[in-house]
Amino acid sequence: KAKADGRGTFRFFESAMDKEVQNRRALELDMREAMAAGEFELHYQPLLDLARDRIVGFEALVRWNHPSRGTISPGIFIPVAEDTGLIVPLGEWVLREACAEAARWPADVRVSVNVSAVQFRQRNLVQLVMSALASSGLAPGRLELEITESVLMQESEASVRILHQLRALGVRIAMDDFGTGYSSLSYLRRFPFDKIKIDRSFVKELSANPESTAIVRAIVSLGRSLGISTTAEGVETHEQLEIVRAEGCTEIQGYLLSPPRPARDAVPLLFRQHRSAVA
Ligand code: C2E
Ligand code: MG
Ligand code: MG
Ligand code: MG
Repeated sequence: KAKADGRGTFRFFESAMDKEVQNRRALELDMREAMAAGEFELHYQPLLDLARDRIVGFEALVRWNHPSRGTISPGIFIPVAEDTGLIVPLGEWVLREACAEAARWPADVRVSVNVSAVQFRQRNLVQLVMSALASSGLAPGRLELEITESVLMQESEASVRILHQLRALGVRIAMDDFGTGYSSLSYLRRFPFDKIKIDRSFVKELSANPESTAIVRAIVSLGRSLGISTTAEGVETHEQLEIVRAEGCTEIQGYLLSPPRPARDAVPLLFRQHRSAVA
């Protein structure tokens, strides 16, 4: 009875695939309108400097408030935006919006913006960054761009050249999700990053898995030797905080401190820092 019917299975997959394609197509069409309709919003998640026990910056993370589907996660729509090229106008909006917002913060607080590999293939990324800085009045040293390995995987010479041009503006460059790719180490040799963000997957297992502690220790030590600061992503518990603190991470980011929130809710965290932001 339960014998597999090859053709039925095939048809099932075919229609599941159609659904997937239709779903992406629908998202793509919606996304074009969403830009114009102002349905995208930035949330900001604080980064805490452990030595100073102070919030020193916020990462801007894009949200899509879809009129019928509710909030759609960037994990869903960023890949679609990258495939369709919509990441170019969306990324420009994110950059300009984040710089304009950060220009209103105290002058020692930075903003981090994620930049897609697709944006690096555009000829004018450097001009765009210059323009966003100029029109917002944000000092270049207060902008940090987060890139993943994918930027250095393709057209790596051109990408490295762009990274140097961005750095020459005074902008900081962070390597995001460090340790998840194929050759994280080799990329550290290609470009002198200002910061390594240790991927959440290592931080998550810190108390349960001694190997993860060893890996975090190695990354921190590597960063220290190279003069690169280290941020532990996705710190959710006090136990994880104490481990990454003991290992010497420079900064933490994670739900323990705060989830990403709209600017009006995130920025007041700066002024509520009494003894310890993660007491
Ligand atoms: P990411 O840059 O690595 O951002 C960190 C992600 O981890 C965010 O997910 C954040 O909400 C989540 N996170 C932070 N702390 C915790 C924690 O303690 N526990 C858990 N479980 N998660 C935590 P989000 O906002 O869903 O973004 C996912 C990814 O989408 C980002 O990963 C980034 O790669 C991409 N993304 C988000 N905004 C943008 C953007 O404006 N441009 C581009 N190109 N990519 C973006
Ligand atoms: Mg990031
Ligand atoms: Mg990350
Ligand atoms: Mg990520």
